Amino acid sequence: MQCSKCHRDAIVFQRYSGLHLCEQHFNRDFEAKAKRAIREHCWIESGDVVGVALSGGKDSSALLFFLHRLLHRRRDIRLMAITVDEGICGYRDPARARAIADRIGVPWTTASFQEEYGITLDEIVGRRGTRLSCSYCGVLRRALMNRIAREEGITKFAYGFNLDDEAQSVLMNVLRGDAYRLIRPVQNVATLVPRIKPFMYIPEREVALYAFLHVEDFDLAGCPYAVDALRGDVRGLLDAYTYRHPATKYSLVNLGEALRGPGIPPGEELRVCEVCGEVCGRVCRVCQVLEEVRGGSTTSIDGDGAQ
Ligand code: SF4
Repeated sequence: MQCSKCHRDAIVFQRYSGLHLCEQHFNRDFEAKAKRAIREHCWIESGDVVGVALSGGKDSSALLFFLHRLLHRRRDIRLMAITVDEGICGYRDPARARAIADRIGVPWTTASFQEEYGITLDEIVGRRGTRLSCSYCGVLRRALMNRIAREEGITKFAYGFNLDDEAQSVLMNVLRGDAYRLIRPVQNVATLVPRIKPFMYIPEREVALYAFLHVEDFDLAGCPYAVDALRGDVRGLLDAYTYRHPATKYSLVNLGEALRGPGIPPGEELRVCEVCGEVCGRVCRVCQVLEEVRGGSTTSIDGDGAQ
């Protein structure tokens, strides 16, 4: 099949646009979408230090490559990569993530649950089971990333979440009837590091293709605890539906954005946790999690750690 824009061989077909694209036009289209997302959200500004959450998988590796390509000539913006080692046996090798950052030419740093909290995610799962593994993991990882951000002067965190991840999250919140998560505000408070997601309008298979084209030796292994039954069901349902209605994932992401509020919800103030000093809403979830996994109560947290 020929590229819809030139006479070279196509490497991808976009059902939602009806276009066949060769490698050159695919790269151009992909990067234009990511740049547009950054521009429309004013996600990167002069003076920013952008920290890429680098797991070493396809999404974050592709994001590091893209942001380096976009920003490496900018003297007013700094880019770095951060890998959090949750302590999951056989998954997330920090050495591999470091090698990717080194090859791309971006400074890299790491931190671990073991060093920060004195416990690994494997140990947490051993004590509490797998049911809330992603919730515990997400809460502890976010707090650790915020601590690193303060130390490194990071002003924005860049995540490799793609269109499929975002659409699944919106639909999961609908199916759970979780109105709060649907309208949860984008927190733009000075003490919290804003998150940016340049690939949120790009389908997962195109992010994977971009990674295969540009990044050597990224990690293909999945997390052994990524067994969220609802997300798996939603993924299957959404993929099947999108096959017949190709714009569905975009519609869901747009819906999620339209519903999100602009700031801290009325009646909720940001405070500082009395135990650890972290910024929090009503209560510090990190301290709740640590109390639970070290043997306290079990009822305080739920949800999806990845988002
Ligand atoms: Fe953590 Fe869950 Fe992601 Fe695994 S799948 S790294 S447990 S959030």
